[in-house]
Amino acid sequence: MYSEWHRLQSVFLSQSQTEVCATTMKPTIHLALTHDWELRGDGSGDIEQIQFAPLRRLLEVYAQAGARTTILPDVMQQLAFRRCENKHPNLKPLADSWDEHARAAFLQGHDVQLHLHPQWRNAEYANGRWHLDGDWSILNYERDAAYAMLAEGKQYLENLLPPLDSSYRCLAFRAGALAAAPSTHLFKSLADLGIQLDVSVAAGVFVNTNKLQLDYRDCEETFLPFFPMMEDARKVSNKPEPIVCVPLNHFFGSRRAVTRQNISLARHEVRRKRSAAPAANDAPARNQSSASRFELAYEKLILPLVKRKHFVSDTGRLNYPLMREMLASIRRRAQAAGMAHVPVVLTNHPKDIRDLPAIERFVGEVSQAEDVRFITLSEMAGKLRSGEFQVRTAVSKPRMNTN
Ligand SMILES: [Zn+2]
Repeated sequence: MYSEWHRLQSVFLSQSQTEVCATTMKPTIHLALTHDWELRGDGSGDIEQIQFAPLRRLLEVYAQAGARTTILPDVMQQLAFRRCENKHPNLKPLADSWDEHARAAFLQGHDVQLHLHPQWRNAEYANGRWHLDGDWSILNYERDAAYAMLAEGKQYLENLLPPLDSSYRCLAFRAGALAAAPSTHLFKSLADLGIQLDVSVAAGVFVNTNKLQLDYRDCEETFLPFFPMMEDARKVSNKPEPIVCVPLNHFFGSRRAVTRQNISLARHEVRRKRSAAPAANDAPARNQSSASRFELAYEKLILPLVKRKHFVSDTGRLNYPLMREMLASIRRRAQAAGMAHVPVVLTNHPKDIRDLPAIERFVGEVSQAEDVRFITLSEMAGKLRSGEFQVRTAVSKPRMNTN
């Protein structure tokens, strides 16, 4: 019996074992809804409109569904507001309101953990706007500079929240722009600071722009919790490490759902461009606009017909049919993993929410599902630590439940 349990628990399943499990076990999915809560990457945006108001609306949705989630505020942004609030007194009430929103979410049972955009380092405020010239990727900072940002960000949360609950610890992290690997020092610094859980790595993501380079196309584990190689979290360590990675979920949308979403996005884009249209005699601009509309139509409508599209599981950027496909993909993969309990992390960018009723419908349905439970990142870290959730290593035997 004992060895059978071990066999069923194994994440290194052969095809036949997968089939056995598929018919004998319906896994419980522990779903962490997380939110990268922040202004735009260049520091722009009305903080009430794109940060405070969407968070308040989300908290109402979650209260109705009884869902406890995790807010990941970009603490570097808040540190910049605090640093500049004496010189620019208009920033102080905004920074205070940021604290109040984070506290209100926490008091309603949500978790608040660390997110960090290093481009806010040394940010300056002038003429009513922010000027950010720091590098967008923490991977490009020297160890000491990166460590100082992480330590200061963690400390800010550990000053803000313990008066509400003395047991609060900052122990989970998502890197700004998901830039968490490779690095000779980042994970070691996180571990030294007591961070136990990283939720930055989204398999399949590839970014190569002048602001950011990131390559998660060859991640060794794309779904289940794993111990990362400390210098390259795209790889699975062959032994337990001080930090566990739970991948930021991704899935492939069907052609049909992707096309529907893109038609609606293209309509939105055309409306937006029309409302910002140049004067009628501005012929070159009009030509350019129709050319880019054609490119948009090609890229958004024709390409998905050829290839299914990779999505990071971001409930703010998906329409309802895609959220359903995301959940179906999670259920399929959880079943194939053959484990009784599967933690899964989704994201959301409140600044980008396109369709709140769709989120409301999705969250409401998930709250009724027998096989899905909502979980905060602190709770997830606890269950990973205790062994209630298995953590993969690269060697043949996964870490077992020792409780
Ligand atoms: Zn962010």
